[in-house]
Amino acid sequence: MGDPLHNELALVPWWTTFVLTSAYLFGSCIGSFLNVVIYRLPAGKSVVHPGSACPSCEQPIAWYDNLPVVSWFVLLGKCRHCKAPFSFRYAAIELAVGLFAAGLVYRYGLGPFALSHFVAASIMIAIAGIDHDSFLIDTRMTLALAVTGLLSQVAKAYEAGDSLWQGPLWALCAGIGAFGLLWLIGYVASSVVGEEAMGGGDAPLFAAIVILLGPASIPLVLLLTGIQGMLIWALLRHRGGVGDHDVEHEDGWAPSERHVPMGLFLVLAALEMQLGGDALTDAYLDFVARLI
Ligand SMILES: [Zn+2]
Repeated sequence: MGDPLHNELALVPWWTTFVLTSAYLFGSCIGSFLNVVIYRLPAGKSVVHPGSACPSCEQPIAWYDNLPVVSWFVLLGKCRHCKAPFSFRYAAIELAVGLFAAGLVYRYGLGPFALSHFVAASIMIAIAGIDHDSFLIDTRMTLALAVTGLLSQVAKAYEAGDSLWQGPLWALCAGIGAFGLLWLIGYVASSVVGEEAMGGGDAPLFAAIVILLGPASIPLVLLLTGIQGMLIWALLRHRGGVGDHDVEHEDGWAPSERHVPMGLFLVLAALEMQLGGDALTDAYLDFVARLI
């Protein structure tokens, strides 16, 4: 997809550098905004007003102290006024979103397909951050992701010159099937362990991801989610597992060390598929073919 532009990018190095740098800078600014969304949305605060302030001394943060990635390193991760530490996560998300934007443009060229995937990635990163912090997945954000995924399928069909409704419709059906599949997995797992094994937001999130990535992504997204979830949980087990466990939901539910924010790992798998989907799918099919 986006092949003519992609070839054009490859032919003119300075233009490539300019476009990729711009994509990185744009992405890191969006990353900075996503930090605000992750921090404020669960608390029911506005994401646009007021401007950023230090959570400790409440001094407003000047624009030159709010530059993505750079400011965190210039200030060595501390507030200019009260020296309270700012989490490295802020800079890490800005850096990651910037690099992701550049990666998408490099891979798919400039166009509606890359743009829709960037919007989807932004929504997913916010979902993952909030799930990590509060073990909650906001239904409105999942819905926004599903709609973006559908638009992305239309953009894909448009760039490939295919029918504008066949692919999107097929993706929508796959999303509904994916919802049923994960719901069933959760139901069986809950019966086995004798308690709620999966959060209510996970199956809808999986459905929205499958609408975005298409039917063929179902086995790989599940596989990557499961493997990475278990691996990272095992690695962080001595530090109390994955996610912020100091939360309690309105219904009194509180996560224990065993609980993993599954949305975080669904998103991680989806982001990997967005950038490396073809290579990952080939490797997977190759692996399955060898087993048979
Ligand atoms: Zn401060």
